[in-house]
This record gives sequence, C-alpha cells and structure tokens, in this order.
Amino acid sequence: MSEKPGRTEMLPFSRPHIGEEEIAEVVATLRSGWLTTGPRVEAFEKALAQYLGGDIHVVAVNSGTAALHLSVLGTGLGPGDEVITTPMTWPATANMIMAAGARPVFVDIDRTTLNLLPDRVVGAVTPRTRAILPVHFAGLCCDMAELAKIAAEHSLAVIEDAAHALGASCSEGKAGTLGLAGCFSFHPTKPITTGEGGALVTRDPALAEKARILLFHGVTRGARSRASGSGEYEVVELGFKYNMLDLQAALGIHQVARIDTLRDRRAALAARYRELLGDLDGDLVFLPPDPPPGWLHSWHIYVIKLNLERLTIDRSAFRAALRERMIATGLHYLSLHLQPFYQRELGCRPEDFPNAAWASERVVTLPLFADMAEEDVAYVAEAVREVLVANARR
Ligand SMILES: *Cc1c(COP(=O)(O)O)cnc(C)c1O
Repeated sequence: MSEKPGRTEMLPFSRPHIGEEEIAEVVATLRSGWLTTGPRVEAFEKALAQYLGGDIHVVAVNSGTAALHLSVLGTGLGPGDEVITTPMTWPATANMIMAAGARPVFVDIDRTTLNLLPDRVVGAVTPRTRAILPVHFAGLCCDMAELAKIAAEHSLAVIEDAAHALGASCSEGKAGTLGLAGCFSFHPTKPITTGEGGALVTRDPALAEKARILLFHGVTRGARSRASGSGEYEVVELGFKYNMLDLQAALGIHQVARIDTLRDRRAALAARYRELLGDLDGDLVFLPPDPPPGWLHSWHIYVIKLNLERLTIDRSAFRAALRERMIATGLHYLSLHLQPFYQRELGCRPEDFPNAAWASERVVTLPLFADMAEEDVAYVAEAVREVLVANARR
C-alpha cells in the first residue's frame, strides 16, 4: 500500500457558502418576532424574480420537492396523464408526478451529458402524454430548443426540474424560465441555499395563483378580507403546508445576490479539474462535458464517470480508496428504473434504459463547492489520478 499523506479532516463533496450578511439577517429575523412567512419571503421572491429577468412569478416554498408537486398539480396533471421524464435524477422528480396521481414515463439519457435524449422523448409520446419534465443534470441545460419543438407539436407542457440549474443558461435563456414552470431547490448542496427551501417560477399568473393557494392548505383570503383585516378565509382546494419561513428567506435574500459569483467560482474550479485530469479523459475516466459556447453551466456537482472497461476495480472500491485519502464523494444518481419501487409500480426493467444503467454504475461525484480551495482541487485530482493509474487494466 502506498502512503496516504495529507489530510486529517474529511473533505466533503459539497458545503454551503454562508456569509456574514446571511448570519446577521437570520439573527435580525429572530429578533423581529416574525419567523414564518412574511416580509423576508416577499423580498426573497422579488429578488429572485429580478435575477431571473423580471416579468416572472416566483412562489417560494419549503423544498424543491414541494415546488415540483405544486407545478405538476398546478398544471392540472393527474390520474390518466403521462409525464415524460429522466430516470437519472433524485426520486423527488418522479415521486411528485406520482403524488399528483399521474404516471412518470422514463426515457433514456445521453451518456455524456446525462440529460434526456429528445429523440427518445418523441418515441415515448402517447395520446395520454401531457408534459415533459426535464432535469438539467449537474446544471448543464437540456436541449430545450428540441424539447420545446416536441412539446409544441404534441401540445405538452414543459416543467423544468431546475434543482441543479440556478445560474445556468442556454441559447433559449435562463434555466427554470424556459417552460410553463420551473422548480428550484435551496437544499444546502444546491447552487444557493436557504437551509431547506425551493421555488416554483412561472410566467403564467393563473399557475402562480393556484400554487399560492395549494401551498397553504388550499385557503384563499378574498380582497374584502384582506382590506378589512377580518381574517375571513375560504378553503377552495386540497392544499398542503409548503410555505417558506422568513428565517429561511433571510438566508435566501443574500444568497440570491451571490448566484453568479458562486457559480463562477465553481466553474473556475471545474476548469481546474479538467486541466489536471484532462489527459485521462476518455481513457480511464470520462470528465463532465463543458457547456456549448454561449451557455452557462451552474456546476452544481462535478460528476465523473469511471471507464470500468479500462479498470480492475469497481466504483465502490474507487470511492473507498478516495475515502481513505479523506475525500468524500457522492452518487448522482442510481437510476430510478433500477429501484425496487419504480420496478414494482411502473414495471421498469433494468434493460429498459441502457445508458442510464451504464451511468448508474460509473458515476462518482467529486468535491466541488465555492469555498473549496484550489489546493484541495489539486489534492483530489492527484488522488483520483493515483487510484485510477494504479488500477488500470494492462
Ligand atoms: C435536490 C433535488 C430535488 C428536490 O429538492 P429538495 O429541495 O431537496 O426537495 C429535486 N430534483 C432534483 C434533480 C434534485 O437534485
């Protein structure tokens, strides 16, 4: 065994950036006596809408999962409806389609970008299809031009799971603003954080209004009640309890101001990984693709794929070797079609989506976050090289 020098503390694969402004704002919120949804949530929604170019409704909620649920319900999807989506995602994407009573229809992904393949989307359209729900994997936009064309041809809604993609853009515009609805997550590993949190964004005022009713018990307060302050209300839908707290928005207000600088920092570190590991790309490993010219990648996560055909070890041995060197890694993702729940409920079989199955065995998420030191990127890259080269097939 070679010596494992260097670190005494585990390097996480992600860590949120929290500035002094965020800390002061949370303290001020605590002192204000108003903890739940109030003025800070309103300010956060305004700031995010402005970042996204104005002319868009932002509905803050308590998770990205809630944003997905409300966007599917708000689009009117339910029993009998099919929604085409990717299996290479976090369970929330498919679960919220199912929670609304609709059926997720998985299609295969591209091995390089891990985004869904537009020609497979076309092949999956049936008379029951109502929507396409793409995930911008790692923060690299899907082919939205092609998906928009398919959606228009078949009268489908496009709902973006943009949980990875705040700060990303493509030729069509900013991720999350390109369909009927976009869903962001502010979980601590995501591009910005509110601790937990999410947002549904839409240019459709009726959808925004419906989401606002659903996110708080299905309750409306009419204009008269608001004007008189009488507190009278009506329950008009089966609603939920998805409201964001002012305590969460206190973080968000200052995080929004950092979206681009945090993204640019992650992009610089991702470029450093490519410089340091580029000679192994396509041989022992496949590095994540850079965005096409003119696009912005949010670099939410840095996902490499091991070229197992060229290695004598599997992914779990590779990750263990990095862990010995005090480097934590992530798994994004184990394809949903390989999971028992979707196999049972949707009849998925492992052979249905060969590219997603291929990627599921090979993906490893390396540490990447805005506060990561360049020396730490160099340390990780060196460890990756060492482990790969030592275990290369001859
Ligand atoms: C994180 C994530 C979600 C869920 O967001 P939460 O805020 O954790 O509820 C949904 N979809 C994708 C692709 C995600 O990465």
